[in-house]
Amino acid sequence: MKKFVYMFNEGNSRMKELLGGKGANLAEMTAIGLPVPFGFTISTESCNNYYDEGKRISPEIEAQILHSLKVLEEKTEKKLGDPTNPLLVSVRSGAVFSMPGMMDTILNLGMNDETVKGMAHLTDNPRFAYDSYRRFIQMFSDVVLDVDTFFFEQLLEEYREQKGYASDPELTAEDWQVVIASYKKIVKDRTRKEFPQDPKEQLFLSIKAVFDSWNNQRAIVYRRLNKIPDHLGTAVNIQSMVFGNMGNDSGTGVAFTRNPSTGENLLYGEYLINAQGEDVVAGIRTPQPILTLEREMPTVFQQFSQTCHLLEKHYEDMQDIEFTVEKGKLFILQTRTGKRTAQAAIRIAVEMVKEGLIDKNTALLRVDPDQLNQLLHRRIDESYARQILTKGLPASPGAATGQVVFDADEAEALGNEGKKVILVRPETTPDDIHGIIAAQAVVTSRGGMTSHAAVVARGMGKACICGCEALKIDLKAKQFFVGETVISEGEMITIDGATGEIMMGEIPMIEPQLSEEFQLLLQWADETRKLGVRANADNPEDAKKAFEFGAGGIGLCRTEHMFMDAKRVPIVQKMILAENYAERKEALNELLPMQQGDFEGIFDAMHGFPVTIRLLDPPLHEFLPDKEELLVEVTKLQILNPDAPELVEKELLLKKVRQLDEFNPMLGHRGCRLGMIHPEIYEMQAKAIFYAIANLEDKGVSVKPEIMIPLVGHVNELKEMRQLVIDSALQVQEETGKSFEYSIGTMIEIPRAALTADEIAEEADFFSFGTNDLTQTTFGYSRDDAEGKFLQAYIENKVLPENPFAVLDRDGVGKLVETGVKLGRATKPELKTGICGEHGGEKSSIDFCYETGLDYVSCSPYRVPLARLAAAQATIRKQEKSLQVQV
Ligand code: PEP
Ligand code: MG
Repeated sequence: MKKFVYMFNEGNSRMKELLGGKGANLAEMTAIGLPVPFGFTISTESCNNYYDEGKRISPEIEAQILHSLKVLEEKTEKKLGDPTNPLLVSVRSGAVFSMPGMMDTILNLGMNDETVKGMAHLTDNPRFAYDSYRRFIQMFSDVVLDVDTFFFEQLLEEYREQKGYASDPELTAEDWQVVIASYKKIVKDRTRKEFPQDPKEQLFLSIKAVFDSWNNQRAIVYRRLNKIPDHLGTAVNIQSMVFGNMGNDSGTGVAFTRNPSTGENLLYGEYLINAQGEDVVAGIRTPQPILTLEREMPTVFQQFSQTCHLLEKHYEDMQDIEFTVEKGKLFILQTRTGKRTAQAAIRIAVEMVKEGLIDKNTALLRVDPDQLNQLLHRRIDESYARQILTKGLPASPGAATGQVVFDADEAEALGNEGKKVILVRPETTPDDIHGIIAAQAVVTSRGGMTSHAAVVARGMGKACICGCEALKIDLKAKQFFVGETVISEGEMITIDGATGEIMMGEIPMIEPQLSEEFQLLLQWADETRKLGVRANADNPEDAKKAFEFGAGGIGLCRTEHMFMDAKRVPIVQKMILAENYAERKEALNELLPMQQGDFEGIFDAMHGFPVTIRLLDPPLHEFLPDKEELLVEVTKLQILNPDAPELVEKELLLKKVRQLDEFNPMLGHRGCRLGMIHPEIYEMQAKAIFYAIANLEDKGVSVKPEIMIPLVGHVNELKEMRQLVIDSALQVQEETGKSFEYSIGTMIEIPRAALTADEIAEEADFFSFGTNDLTQTTFGYSRDDAEGKFLQAYIENKVLPENPFAVLDRDGVGKLVETGVKLGRATKPELKTGICGEHGGEKSSIDFCYETGLDYVSCSPYRVPLARLAAAQATIRKQEKSLQVQV
């Protein structure tokens, strides 16, 4: 018989896939001998079975659950539903990958009109017993019976007001009994049924609800965002309850073994005295920092910090631990790998190597390259005298500016319009996730560092401030107040998530710097990786940034960007509009020194590293005014002012714009096709490069230029353009009396080029795969239209697994890259190969490039550190794989 249910002493941490992360860790902690309340886990396979059976718990699984319940009853010496000695349990979801707050939890299950009396008697604390019962009714009704918490909250608030109470702890046992009667009436009115009194019925309804919550909207959104497969299913953990709300010698909390925001090796977290389970995470009351527990409960604190050390050593990673103290006795309810910011991930990884806990390879694999974005972006300029409006808890670092919005839907709508928004809420719930995704940052007036907003924002690398209690939010009026100051929806604010400060308006930001630990980790990455990392840069500033971030050269300098400078566009237009060769030459002669200056700046910034310069690529009409706007202008002049002196000129311009107009510009007259028809343009560019080299040679700067011809589809194109570059070099050498080295290669960005790479390699010293165009031409998707039109729907409907413009499509585009490398190297074994499309800065594509044997990847300067790390990870993974094969 297949086993679907496991007692906590039957599993271990390697069984995550079956028991979910939470279940596997509970089993592991039970095995180590930690004080874990006993229970059992219903496997993820049961969840899949539930869906296969048309959302029904099969008799086989039901029998196993009942059997495990019996074992639990024997072990705890309590019985579910026994009025004199009732067993109470929690029912919690537990997926393979942690999805904090996305699925449902039920506490105090087993309470009913009879067991509540038993609890009151056993604990000698009727107030506690009735409070627990009403919490259970509220949670169960919300999760299982679909009766919104709002109705209960509203009733409770009215009751408090009527009695003149300021907060819940003032309610007596008798008060709670009155509230419970009204709660049950709400349930009856809304569901037309009595609140279920049979604890077994409560149990099975709850298990079903947890299975159902695997497919609730927020869980689906979370899975999509974090690329968690839908088929994994969730496990359900049934655990005997311990109570943190049994008086001032009880409490509950969450702690990280190191600071999840900065990485500092210091116990970090918070707790609430006399509170239950979700109170800390839900962010409804602002909790105490964990270190004050040392004063309040010294023995418990001692035991807890020892447990934290033990768990961190055992798992060799920073842990996120939930605990409860029941009448002075410590219980551990959960441990899992703690989510952390990029800054913390790096510091923890580096320090753990120094402490001898992990090795360098493990440290390199611990940091997600995608997270590094957080550190490579701008911060508030330190020299700016901040005028701080107010301060909250620094829940997730980073600075952000945006207009204030108070609602997740509004945040999403404005975010989709490309607006920068900051979501301001009293607290966030998992239902706000789409708003958090769309926002630059999140601010909440309640909740602590482990509240929902803080955890989710840290996970996404967004700035976040929590528990900013000075902020009084009026959701109806769409305003918040700080003392006398009023900020309305739409006004700009700036926040600093590292300090918790909120400021009005926009504030100057500065460029990022890499911390010492970050530099060290990247140094380890460089020692490990075999794949080169270069940057795409078109100007000296970007080249400097690329060098600073550790690029080993420039893999793509798009020279058209040098043509787009406002001062240069008129000269470029003069070149395009030239009636004859002489006129065109004159314009080109004006452009040459400008390009030469740019090249000198870039070469100088790269200190002798190779620089790949691509000759002009886009169609010429990109440098001319928009056809429709021009047509309107000309027509207006023709009607209203036909004698205007500029009309003739504008008509001429319109004629040229029409001549250059194309149906499919991306497949039209661009790339090397420009050089073929107007060789003088490429000749000017080549000469500008060579003059720059000659000039720098005098200054002792060594330069390694690689001249790259774009969009080649047939070897004859490259042959002709190569000759043109060689001739230009000879002319400059003759003129200046200098000799210099250079190489000539091509982009591989048309399928035909990849398929005939053996022929093309005859004329090329290097290949650079332009996977933006190669994706466009392989799929036949216009890169300017697809993403805005149909691609999103394709991804949502799983027609495509990923956006192929972001993540390299291995099966199609990847095959062409492999073919290109193989054929090219068959002709020329020493052929240098790289990639310079957007994929060069994306971790899984980088992995592919390494597997395919490319020499380097090239990406934007800000992604260079990411690429260095991802390249090291690719190397380590390959080594690990080959070790496994040998074993
Ligand atoms: C490419 O096509 O991948 C490429 C790098 O060139 P561009 O994006 O400029 O067309
Ligand atoms: Mg291209």
